Amino acid sequence: MKIETFLCEVDKSEMVKTPLTNFSVEPAVAAFFGPIKTNHLVAYACQKPGCRIHYEPLGMGYFLLDAKNKIDSYPTSAPRCALNDHGYTGLSSMDGKLKWICPEHTCTFSKDY
Ligand SMILES: [Zn+2]
Ligand SMILES: [Zn+2]
Repeated sequence: MKIETFLCEVDKSEMVKTPLTNFSVEPAVAAFFGPIKTNHLVAYACQKPGCRIHYEPLGMGYFLLDAKNKIDSYPTSAPRCALNDHGYTGLSSMDGKLKWICPEHTCTFSKDY
């Protein structure tokens, strides 16, 4: 579904689309995420001060970006899309309810939070 706003899965704050550059990532973490191929990534960043949770809708899902701009994995509770291999759902609010929603625009998968 087309999602306007993803929410941080820890504190439920709004996340804002943010281009990330000059980040680093350990090889093992990069292997875990797969889609990190360049040093440029567009992810949603949690707006709560001090929170380092980010969400990338094309496959990585939720991850951490530490104070040194280093990407690390995060033990997410987001389910993966169960209809197709679209990767991890993101948390969003729909009709006043929190739901995990597949970020793929043409996909209808969602799950109650
Ligand atoms: Zn947060
Ligand atoms: Zn999907």
